[in-house]
Amino acid sequence: MSEPLVPPIVPCASFRFRDTAEVLRAMEGEDFLYSRLHNPTVLGVEQELAALIGAERTLLFGSGMAAISTALIALLEERPLLAIQEQVYGATWQLTREVLPRLGVEVVTFPSQGFEEALAALAGREVGVVYAESPTNPGLEIADLRQLSRAAHDLGALFVVDNTFASPVLQRPLELGADVELHSATKYLGGHHDLLAGVVAGRSELLDAVFKHRTLLGGILDPFQAFLLQRGLKTVALRVERQAATALVLAEWLAGRPGVAEVLYPGLAAHPGHLIAQGQMSGYGGVLSFVHAGGEEGARRFSEALHEVSLAASLGGTETLVTLPSTTTHYHLSLEERAAAGIAPGLVRLAIGLEDPALLQADLSQALASSCSSSSSELS
Ligand code: PLP
Repeated sequence: MSEPLVPPIVPCASFRFRDTAEVLRAMEGEDFLYSRLHNPTVLGVEQELAALIGAERTLLFGSGMAAISTALIALLEERPLLAIQEQVYGATWQLTREVLPRLGVEVVTFPSQGFEEALAALAGREVGVVYAESPTNPGLEIADLRQLSRAAHDLGALFVVDNTFASPVLQRPLELGADVELHSATKYLGGHHDLLAGVVAGRSELLDAVFKHRTLLGGILDPFQAFLLQRGLKTVALRVERQAATALVLAEWLAGRPGVAEVLYPGLAAHPGHLIAQGQMSGYGGVLSFVHAGGEEGARRFSEALHEVSLAASLGGTETLVTLPSTTTHYHLSLEERAAAGIAPGLVRLAIGLEDPALLQADLSQALASSCSSSSSELS
């Protein structure tokens, strides 16, 4: 009998059995029982992702934050001490400051570069997880994943990496020494701004604890979203390579232009993490940030003057998006906390899509010109 070329969606909550022996087999994990544990559509996509990431096993969640929170709760159960990079995605930052401490987790931080002292100070402590994000959202800081993995393992800790910004196409944390790799699959893996999903990837024995917590906290991905994600995965390599190539062209073009105080993109030789990025990534990613010389007002005018680029808070999809982190990802932070997280008032984040690079460059050029002339006419 022929088979469907595209696996079908199995949108059912529960599975039917002929007898109790079959139920017991499912209870042992050998068959499907209930879709909060396993679902055929979701499992099929998890297996594809494991092959893409190079992991023994992956688990899918209803969002990146569901994946991150469930993984951290599970992996910190026995040793509730977390060492986390200072600059991480805003909701991860909030989770580790506002939620995990209430669950009894002690949280300490280290900088993306020059982390040795902060981690050495933890020698002799029961550190459960060392957590890194590279490149970071939205500052595009780079952490040396090989060195961090060694430092984490010296402490007896697991090394966990949020690889959302690079995607598995451009960076392979598990090959660089990470124990667990995380993704917001809402971004490059899905790739079309039409789904929310999250991934935890790693060795089977580690993922057993995450699976238990996914079942109890209930964050598994829905089969319809899994189907969309599976479609996204077919083109992820093509999309990410094109997005990274366009981002590099635009970052080089923006650097030194009037109205641009600083460009943050690890592909630029002047970026402090450039050499590390070169040694651990095969491309620098599709997101670049820059600091508008006109500060918060200049950044706002720039974002509103764009025609081809949408003002929207996401990344990794087919359309280019502009975000002002102080109004979105880091909105809930105080001015001091934003400064500590590297969020300058004029910071603009551009998440490059699949449009013609020349079209994007022309749009950025006109928005920059108009945002600078509006700022200066207001000043005069
Ligand atoms: N990690 C990073 C680096 C992100 O940029 C995001 C979202 O922007 C997340 C995690 C959270 O993902 P989600 O929005 O799918 O929950």
